[in-house]
Amino acid sequence: MSITVQDQRFLGGQPLSAIDTQHLRQAFVWAHAARTRGNRPFGTVVVAQDGRILAEAFSNSRETGDCTGHAEMNAIRQLGKPPVPAEVLAQATLYASAQPCAMCACAICHAGIGRVVYGLDDERLLQLHPHLRGSTLDCRTVFDSATYAVRCIGPALVAEALAVYENSWLPPLA
Ligand SMILES: [Zn+2]
Repeated sequence: MSITVQDQRFLGGQPLSAIDTQHLRQAFVWAHAARTRGNRPFGTVVVAQDGRILAEAFSNSRETGDCTGHAEMNAIRQLGKPPVPAEVLAQATLYASAQPCAMCACAICHAGIGRVVYGLDDERLLQLHPHLRGSTLDCRTVFDSATYAVRCIGPALVAEALAVYENSWLPPLA
């Protein structure tokens, strides 16, 4: 399937540092892990400014029946057990294999995470999987509404992200 995007600036994705590339690729690995367990392929890693991994998770909505079991939500839930200090989260980055949905973007704001890097964008994901249920409210709109600054980078590593989402999906729920 050929993919087109309206904004040609992001055709190949925004450039990333070596560190961001490493962690976003780890989010792709978790996305694959989700897929092997029968879930949709989404993965998330949350990393402190000093490089410490604070949380890693994948989407488990299919296996739990919980539609809020997105990778970002599952990772954010880990941040409370034990609680990660607010000042650490303010400097942390959440890496997501695909653009966070509005629910997850709100959760990111409630967690106080200061930076987000994502792989595949909503536009491409919906082109690949037009049956996907959910809101199309852009995560940047949610982040702009936050009571603090959330930096957002993406789409990024688009070719690798596409490899995650092309030919690795499940049929819609019956
Ligand atoms: Zn989500």
